[in-house]
Amino acid sequence: MTASPEIVIVGAGAIGCATAYYLARQGAKVLVMDREAIGAGASFHATGLFSPWRASSNPALNHLFDTSLRLSQELLPRLKEETGVDTFYQVAQGLRVALRAEQVEEGKALAAAPGLAGAKLAYLDGEEARRLEPRLSPRVLGALWCDRFGQVDSYRHTLALAQAAERSGAQFQARQVTGLERRAGKLTGLRTTTGVIPCERAVLAMGAWSAEARDRLIEHALSIIPSLEAAQVVGQFAGPRPQSQDGLPIMRPAPTLSGVYLNTGHGHSGILLAAASGRHVAEMVIQGSPSLLKAEPYLPMRFVAKQQ
Ligand SMILES: Cc1cc2nc3c(=O)[nH]c(=O)nc-3n(C[C@H](O)[C@H](O)[C@H](O)COP(=O)(O)OP(=O)(O)OC[C@H]3O[C@@H](n4cnc5c(N)ncnc54)[C@H](O)[C@@H]3O)c2cc1C
Repeated sequence: MTASPEIVIVGAGAIGCATAYYLARQGAKVLVMDREAIGAGASFHATGLFSPWRASSNPALNHLFDTSLRLSQELLPRLKEETGVDTFYQVAQGLRVALRAEQVEEGKALAAAPGLAGAKLAYLDGEEARRLEPRLSPRVLGALWCDRFGQVDSYRHTLALAQAAERSGAQFQARQVTGLERRAGKLTGLRTTTGVIPCERAVLAMGAWSAEARDRLIEHALSIIPSLEAAQVVGQFAGPRPQSQDGLPIMRPAPTLSGVYLNTGHGHSGILLAAASGRHVAEMVIQGSPSLLKAEPYLPMRFVAKQQ
């Protein structure tokens, strides 16, 4: 990229790449910088599940999930067509099993509410669930069933978003951002380990870091399907889930520095939420006011209000 980029995105995970994709499609000159590589953070490790039931009791979060599921259903086939990258997207019936009484109640409550993006939900008792999946342990008390449960390979999905963004003119560089340059309350550039990149608008989509304990996951899997005991672990991935305090992502302009936008805090659902979050923040950067979602629920000011 010879001239200065119009917009720099820091972080080439699913969220940064989706934001780049929607910005570049609107004609913006976008540069994405990652200190490692495309999909090197949480977006490499994610299971890539697209669960179609209510995410929480928070209506804004459910609306975001619903919007992103609908958007992803049209985006995923298009990405494959545009880039040739197979994201291994598949949709099948799904079961969320209950091993404890409270999980039974949770499953029944989820089944009683409408499924997201038009999915059908039902609660099955243990026998009904075992008829559908005979390998389930007798310990399984019941299961929430859905008619369409999506899954992608999250790394390939991130790569497909990046390649589609590139096809619309976005550029990618391996660089670590170390700070922001400012003048009179406005962004003027990004400091990197190899110099300053002048720019007036930037989206920070840098994720976060945490870990997952392998033994707990294996123990849990065995309690659901005992025959897995004979299975061999062929690989193990662990990684970060950037999570905000209340589970809602933070998608907004930074309050004290004009030109900086945040797109982070997507917790355990950033792959599913990438489509809506990327488009929402791209609209915010280009148009000022987004049209896909309301801005207010995702502002970090909600944390301040709760503490007062
Ligand atoms: C084990 C596991 C299972 C999961 N399962 C699912 C699932 O089934 N469904 C689902 O939707 N989600 C799932 N998630 C959550 C999902 O992985 C995350 O929400 C999502 O990947 C977050 O994307 P991101 O782009 O915000 O962050 P990341 O993918 O972490 O990307 C951030 C990027 O920023 C870069 N970066 C950081 N600092 C700098 C810097 N200073 N300069 C330049 N670059 C920088 C990093 O190198 C990284 O590439 C799972 C997560 C884990 C760990």
